[in-house]
Amino acid sequence: MAQLDVDISANLAEVRLCIAAAALRVGRDPDEVTLVAVSKTIDAARVRAAYAAGQRHFGENRVQEAEGKIGALADLADIHWHLVGHLQTNKVRPALGLFQLIESVDSVHLAEAISRQALVQERVAHILLEVNVAGEPSKYGFRPAELPDAAARIAGLPGIALRGLMTVAPAVADPEEVRPVFRTLRGLRDDLQQQVPESRWAHLSMGMTEDFEVAVEEGATIVRIGRAIFGPRA
Ligand SMILES: *Cc1c(COP(=O)(O)O)cnc(C)c1O
Repeated sequence: MAQLDVDISANLAEVRLCIAAAALRVGRDPDEVTLVAVSKTIDAARVRAAYAAGQRHFGENRVQEAEGKIGALADLADIHWHLVGHLQTNKVRPALGLFQLIESVDSVHLAEAISRQALVQERVAHILLEVNVAGEPSKYGFRPAELPDAAARIAGLPGIALRGLMTVAPAVADPEEVRPVFRTLRGLRDDLQQQVPESRWAHLSMGMTEDFEVAVEEGATIVRIGRAIFGPRA
């Protein structure tokens, strides 16, 4: 019941203000930052409330959960869905029809499967590469050292538009502690711009409820925020 009391519209306004303030602190244009409302575990009615408050980009971490929700919200024009969780190769086929951006590509093998399905479905799949910057064993993502080779291979796959990098920073008490993680991701992106110039390295997806302001200060173009918008998850 508590979740029904959440004022999604007020939360969104607050988050947008904080994003703008963080951007302005470092001389960035706030419009460079896309807010993705991460709606995993949140029902379609609450997503609809966020849409009514002007939110257009949403994130899900599981294909199966997203399928029902996206179907239930198919009447909403100009809504964009981002996949932010690990994608199994056997879910690639439905994922391509559901998501406008797959942020969590974490292996060359997965990218190859996406490429094959994109050709079958006559689509171009827009993707980001997930990077495990801090090398946490519990997390998915490329290790920074393997990124240049992997990116070069993936950039050459047909049916794929490689658009940038994504990371999930370690959970810490003070968001300042993960500033170096975000800075590293930006550096990796800058290197890839030189190493793999055939891709347009437009996006840095980094920053969640606890750390998005630091991420915006460090150059995030996409922030993925759940709890600050929808309240705590069950
Ligand atoms: C759940 C999730 C988020 C949002 O997390 P909050 O802490 O609720 O803001 C962002 N990115 C990914 C990959 C997630 O799984």
